Amino acid sequence: AALSKVKDVDIKGGWKVGELIPYAALTKTFSMIEATTKRLEKNAILTSFLLLVIQRSSKKDSTALLQAVYLCINRLSPDYVGIELGIGESLLIKAISESTGRSLAMVKADLKKEGDLGLVAMNSKNSQKTLFKPKPLTVAFVFSSLRDIASSSGHSSQAKKVSIITKLLAACQEFEAKYIVRSLEGKLRIGNAERSVLVALAHAAVLAEHEKAGKKWSTEKLAMRLEEGANNMKSVYSELPSYDEVIPALLKHGINGIRDHCKLTPGVPLKPMLAKPTKAIGEVLDRFEGKRFTCEYKYDGERAQVHKLPNGSVSVFSRNSEDMSKKYPDLVEQLPKCFKDSTKSFVLDAEAVAFDRITNKLMPFQELSKRKRKDVKVEDIQVRVCLFAFDLLYLNGEPLLHKTLNERRKLLRDHFTVVPGEFDFAKCSDGETVDEIQSFLEESVKDGCEGLMVKMLETDASYYEPSRRSVNWLKLKKDYLAGVGDSLDLVVVGGYYGKGKRTNVYGAFLLACYDDSSEEYQTICKIGTGFSEEMLQLHYEVLKPLERDILRGDVKAGGAKPDVWFEPQVVWEVLTADLSLSPIYTAAQGLVDERGISLRFPRFIRIRDDKSADDATGPEQIAEMYERQALAAGSGKKKGGDD
Ligand code: ATP
Repeated sequence: AALSKVKDVDIKGGWKVGELIPYAALTKTFSMIEATTKRLEKNAILTSFLLLVIQRSSKKDSTALLQAVYLCINRLSPDYVGIELGIGESLLIKAISESTGRSLAMVKADLKKEGDLGLVAMNSKNSQKTLFKPKPLTVAFVFSSLRDIASSSGHSSQAKKVSIITKLLAACQEFEAKYIVRSLEGKLRIGNAERSVLVALAHAAVLAEHEKAGKKWSTEKLAMRLEEGANNMKSVYSELPSYDEVIPALLKHGINGIRDHCKLTPGVPLKPMLAKPTKAIGEVLDRFEGKRFTCEYKYDGERAQVHKLPNGSVSVFSRNSEDMSKKYPDLVEQLPKCFKDSTKSFVLDAEAVAFDRITNKLMPFQELSKRKRKDVKVEDIQVRVCLFAFDLLYLNGEPLLHKTLNERRKLLRDHFTVVPGEFDFAKCSDGETVDEIQSFLEESVKDGCEGLMVKMLETDASYYEPSRRSVNWLKLKKDYLAGVGDSLDLVVVGGYYGKGKRTNVYGAFLLACYDDSSEEYQTICKIGTGFSEEMLQLHYEVLKPLERDILRGDVKAGGAKPDVWFEPQVVWEVLTADLSLSPIYTAAQGLVDERGISLRFPRFIRIRDDKSADDATGPEQIAEMYERQALAAGSGKKKGGDD
């Protein structure tokens, strides 16, 4: 019922069919969304705005809807194109100062007080006296300006960026400056995750059809259509995560027609399926009891989704949908030897692993991380990689996601060939007893793997589930068996200067998890032991440029007081001995207790540069780990105590 109630999000004067969307309409929507904490209401507001956009768009021109949606998720292109926002604080302060005539010192002082540069920009603008009312900004103009900013590079790019931002800010009215600045910083902070935008888009499309049909549907029918529409949209987008493809199809074929027109397509990477951690073989057997499953080696490398287009071009994408073809020119070169002539187009899910071609042995991830990330030349490569394929998602024009793993695996083997040291199938065993799994696990560790992946083999439970951390894939790592639990991926948000020999580098770091529903970083622990001098130097070089004077508004610090704050960008994989409740840190606050959860004796494992800050472990997972641990201890909730 809440959804079918369209909110009044239109601005005075509105805009007509075919006219450009006023940016004020979008920012009014943002401010209404920000003002409520209720999910349904946030959804109804965004749905209402997107409904207006759909109704005022022509069927043939999807640009307006596309740009509006991109601005709602604060992106400028699909992930794999890699045009990103995230402008540094000092550049923004400069632009705010130039466009409002206030001194740098005044802007900085306000920032210290408010903690939100967007708010500072808006207040500075609104207190400024202007003689002429500037020409209203449009979504199209803001979008193209942001694109210009994000794609300008080279030595004079800083000045160019400041000049575009200054011009944009000069034209801002009401809430506009606040959201432009937040967009530029890389986070809108209105509590509107991408998933919700997808649902709102589907709901808007359904409501547009409902209105076109003269609003004659019964409440039940409308509710059913809304639910169907949202499911349809989520499933289509997980197969083809590109609004560039989905939105034109939505306008042309309607919400029920997109399924037939938007399918997994080579060249557009899909978000990979992920696994749930398990602590013991017994747990695997409990979950998969009576079902056929397979155990595969869990290789210790980097996820690689390989796409071959019918025109012959081969691309390699990371776990994060980043195009890694320039990092792995050797893979791109060696792959054609590995597929048969009958294999015209495909999408392969695989792990790229460092491989010693002399000893024919797998090498640990640390070796792989020594490779450069960009513009690698084949002749300069020291660390060779072997690709271990574990799934086939598309073959010769046909998506395979809804085939069983057994069928997909057979197709994989039929259409690809092993080339020793370059391409192989993930080693697997279909053993079903504890002893068989135990000995395969030991073998995998002996061969240099992290453990096993256990996967359902048959029925619809074995279909490939893009972007899901699924119970149909379980990971069994050797570390879990030692009782330490799964590792966490955490964002480095603060640094503490070192002591003694370490005064020139940071000696310890403040880590945070990421809550994607509130778009907040929540602090979880201080980590300072186990780093070599060399490692500390490396961290210093990476983190120093990310230093900022003032805490960002979306970092929930709690009682943590590091010497410096960092832009939340760098992700580390960390192991912990134990989790405990903490009055200092804010991670998962309110989920198991009013207090947050912190890590005791955290240990640094590696930098995860295949993950962005938003992919860090979430508070629900941390609460789940805490509760499992409490359960295992058999003592109910553990008592607090922090580091
Ligand atoms: P982590 O890699 O730390 O376990 P993650 O969040 O990156 O965490 P998970 O779902 O937890 O991903 O583990 C799956 C990862 O393991 C995949 O992303 C892939 O890179 C790697 N992997 C190695 N071997 C396999 C395999 N046989 N099947 C699936 N994934 C594999």
